[in-house]
Amino acid sequence: MSNVAIGIDVGGTKALALMVARDGRVVGEMKSQTPHDEGFDAGEATAKVLVDQIYELCERQSLDPSQVPIGVGLPGMMRRDGHLAFAPNLQTASGADLGAQLGDALANSSVFCENDANCAALAEHEWGAGRGISDFVMVTLGTGIGGGVVADGQLVRGRSGFAGEIGHMVIDAHGAPCLCGGHGCWERYASGGGLHRLTREAALEGRLATLVEQCAGDPRAVRAEDVTAAAAEGLDEAVALMREVGWWLALGLSNLVAILDCGHFVIGGGLSEASDLVLPAAREYLAELVEGYDARPTITVTTSMFGARSGAMGATLVAFERA
Ligand SMILES: [Zn+2]
Repeated sequence: MSNVAIGIDVGGTKALALMVARDGRVVGEMKSQTPHDEGFDAGEATAKVLVDQIYELCERQSLDPSQVPIGVGLPGMMRRDGHLAFAPNLQTASGADLGAQLGDALANSSVFCENDANCAALAEHEWGAGRGISDFVMVTLGTGIGGGVVADGQLVRGRSGFAGEIGHMVIDAHGAPCLCGGHGCWERYASGGGLHRLTREAALEGRLATLVEQCAGDPRAVRAEDVTAAAAEGLDEAVALMREVGWWLALGLSNLVAILDCGHFVIGGGLSEASDLVLPAAREYLAELVEGYDARPTITVTTSMFGARSGAMGATLVAFERA
């Protein structure tokens, strides 16, 4: 039985690989760009990058890469048999069996794939902000929105393994188009990608006059980062836009409360770094949007303990559990 496992969180832009001990101690880390190479077979270019990461982390600890359990967190609908069935934000790997590709390349029979937000939920449940909590939802706000649902202490995986695709809950049927082919999905409003889109919209509609002026009058030049920086300094128009993101976030959370009666949300992903600008508003709006808010025990919304690392941390748990 190996004392360490490798967990890799494959995002739309970066792949983070961690080597983690059984007690949760991180002993190695490596970050690479996720390739989007149209010329390859599904997942081939991605698999090559992950194999290089695994070799590098094992070499540093003088370990044999065929003997270390490996977990891979992927951004999309993961079938229980390990195939990535559908990945709007990582289309070049859609349909791939990355676990098999890595297993063959490394002669390693202990490679396991899981949805990335499910991995994050497992890590937060075991070591982080969801520790000791039997019912919570992990919400990762990155390019899109990922979800990991823990109910009665267990990760909910669904019939095919696809449970928790909360980013594609429709919150505005006539709303913005989504990469999944639908319209008005939650992730077009409350994620990092959503903030980017809302920034563009607000700038064009004249609601970010000061920031547009700072960009030489070009509304298309205002970036989401400009909004978060200005909101942190208290610029009213930027604060208002971050509160709007908070409202959209609360709207999706209130739907989850209606379905699951979950009392706790753990917020992770890149946008959670701007949590001070979004979460206070989200908590406030949640009180207005949740049915029978006052009749329920307190609903808490906290940031994840491991931030950008929670997916990779949780992927090591998948590896330890299934090896
Ligand atoms: Zn969608």
